[in-house]
Amino acid sequence: MSFDVTGSPARIVFGRGARGQTPDILRDLGITRALVLSTEAQKETADAFACTLGKSCLGVFAGAVMHTPVHATEAALEIVREQRVDGLVAFGGGSTIGLSKAIAYRTDLPQVALPTTYAGSEVTNILGQTADGAKTTLKSPRLIPEVVIYDAELTLSLPVGMSVTSGINAMAHAVEGLYARDRNPVSAMIAAEGCRAMIEALPRIAQAPADIAARERAFVGSWLCGTVLGQAGMALHHKLCHVLGGLYDLPHAETHTVILPHATAFNARAVPQLLVPVAEALGAQMPGAGLWDFAQALGAPHSLRDLGMPEDGIDRAADAAVAQPYWNPAPIGRDAIAALIRAAWAGQRPDA
Ligand code: NAD
Repeated sequence: MSFDVTGSPARIVFGRGARGQTPDILRDLGITRALVLSTEAQKETADAFACTLGKSCLGVFAGAVMHTPVHATEAALEIVREQRVDGLVAFGGGSTIGLSKAIAYRTDLPQVALPTTYAGSEVTNILGQTADGAKTTLKSPRLIPEVVIYDAELTLSLPVGMSVTSGINAMAHAVEGLYARDRNPVSAMIAAEGCRAMIEALPRIAQAPADIAARERAFVGSWLCGTVLGQAGMALHHKLCHVLGGLYDLPHAETHTVILPHATAFNARAVPQLLVPVAEALGAQMPGAGLWDFAQALGAPHSLRDLGMPEDGIDRAADAAVAQPYWNPAPIGRDAIAALIRAAWAGQRPDA
């Protein structure tokens, strides 16, 4: 065994109402001219939050959109320069946090992230951004927000469907972390506990969306699963989601939700021992089939067909997935991948 790990230097502030600590946190970071970032859909809540920050906040830029298009980053950068912004406050899900990271990457401004979904981007050193229809991913320590504030009250408004799919998106980081080539004993432990937290939390949220304790448990899952993504490389599952999302403009969290059981089953056939923690957390015999049953019970989407992927796109997606493959614990053959995508397209239950 050999490994090389860099832990995240981020400060994590966790608790109900913890967003109230933001003014003190900005002061600690020396931020006096903060810009709050959000999506258009969350602008009203972000505006109300910005009002609580007093004079240290200049206002809200509500131009965050899915997949961090470079044109949105450039629009935000204009404001950052014009208004001499000295710190960023990301108030939202992975899209808003992506915008914050994209600005920080170009300016090295300090970031405070207040996640409002369970996707886990706030603790990773990864940024995916799009330009001219192509998505590229980069890694840098500069991308990691200095402080993350997990306030579960901010997720009470997240609809059950998005709670479930963003939670399963987070679990995908942990599942792939379990068999990553560069995993380490700590990342494996965090991944197993991250899966457990999310598997406990999501059914409770689906049953009682206002259950704040369940939403806190899901945030523990986000933090842990995101931490794994920051430490261990991703494999087949993330490659497939990247390819499918890019080719057919499929929704991010839902695509992860549909693909995860199939990619897990594919790799469970090669490295069954490494995926035992997932099966155990699910109380299932087989991790891939168990994940499929879990998502199904929560009413999550289970077929690429329902997400809008055309059936005649399966071959093209398989070609793209094997063209520049990520490392994977099982060999990635073109026909086997086409069969996996076909099963996911049709919504079949995997058998491993
Ligand atoms: P999102 O941020 O795109 O949010 C989806 C929608 O939900 C938006 O309209 C948003 O305004 C709304 N929303 C968010 N929180 C809400 C709340 N509490 N109440 C009501 N509405 C709310 O969704 P996401 O799944 O969190 O993020 C997806 C993006 O994150 C993708 O671009 C993906 O690539 C990226 N991501 C990046 C990483 C990374 O490490 N770089 C990890 C995971 C996801």
